[in-house]
Amino acid sequence: MVNVDKLKEIARETISRDDVKYLIGWRQGTYGFRAAPYFMSTPEEAEELIFSPLCTNNLATYLTLAEKLPVPRGQEPDSRKVALLVKGCDSRAVVQQLVEQGISRERVLVIGCPCRGVIDQKKVEAKFPDVREAVSAVWDGDTVVFNLPGGSVAVPRQEVLAGKCLTCRYPNPVIADVTVWEEVAVWGSDDYVDVRELEAGSPQQRWGFWEEKFASCMRCYSCRNVCPMCYCEDCVLDRLNPQWIMRSVNTAENTAFHLARAFHLAGRCIECGECERVCPVDIPLMKLNRKLTKEVRDKYAYEPGVDPEAKPLQASYRPDDKEDFIL
Ligand code: SF4
Ligand code: SF4
Ligand code: SF4
Repeated sequence: MVNVDKLKEIARETISRDDVKYLIGWRQGTYGFRAAPYFMSTPEEAEELIFSPLCTNNLATYLTLAEKLPVPRGQEPDSRKVALLVKGCDSRAVVQQLVEQGISRERVLVIGCPCRGVIDQKKVEAKFPDVREAVSAVWDGDTVVFNLPGGSVAVPRQEVLAGKCLTCRYPNPVIADVTVWEEVAVWGSDDYVDVRELEAGSPQQRWGFWEEKFASCMRCYSCRNVCPMCYCEDCVLDRLNPQWIMRSVNTAENTAFHLARAFHLAGRCIECGECERVCPVDIPLMKLNRKLTKEVRDKYAYEPGVDPEAKPLQASYRPDDKEDFIL
């Protein structure tokens, strides 16, 4: 059972520590069914912290974003820890960032929040299309209860949870320095039905599917920017010399962008679904990411973001690794 008072108490204790510079969590958003990322640096600010089915953002993105900013001239880098609230899927991003040495273990303090699933905004907004005010929500057994302006409404979890949560195998954080309440029972399993459906089509059908999807991409790069695993300081997409991918927005260059990104994330994507969530034109990016995840799992028995002691896929080799793809 989620006890937000306990979470606030832990946050106050954490932010009072001399070796912690700030804590990243969630607070209620300003409209609709939204929570917002919340950076707090004083114990008093803990009062606004929430943990609820609205807390969709994977905050692990900030570990690599905020921590790679240039240090102003004349200032010393602040080497204190960043404290971070994580759900199960978010914690896999932290693990993978550690495995890749994108962050160092002594710089992060992980506060684990066992999770019962977050909402899919689109599903909820379709159910309650006229709600503009900020609405809070809580888990209650097999329902999510929304505190709407006219009163509370309980909706079965199955009807409002994000797709990733319906099949979640890691609702409990896989890494945590502090866990704020008891672990939840795992309810999900994943046999990649969505990927298998696509695989069943002919090459022409699959190409047609992706060609249509990629044609609508406007190259806003929200999917890249929100991704906790897209943290290269010098992204190949931004490079002008040599220019691997043209800036022009057309199906050919869009396809090059998506394939480059998907392959850069093979064996690294931790399936948090943030890229697909933020896409303004609803491109089903998780089908692409999960196709590569499935290939990596089947060929190399490798799953990213679950073992802090693991090596990155690209840096590990076993004599019996499949190599039949090498020409
Ligand atoms: S995927 Fe799992 S850990 Fe992540 S939000 Fe959904 S239920 Fe929670
Ligand atoms: S978020 Fe969507 S529209 Fe924007 S670059 Fe990514 S796929 Fe294209
Ligand atoms: S590619 Fe998408 S699902 Fe994978 S880690 Fe990045 S944001 Fe999450």
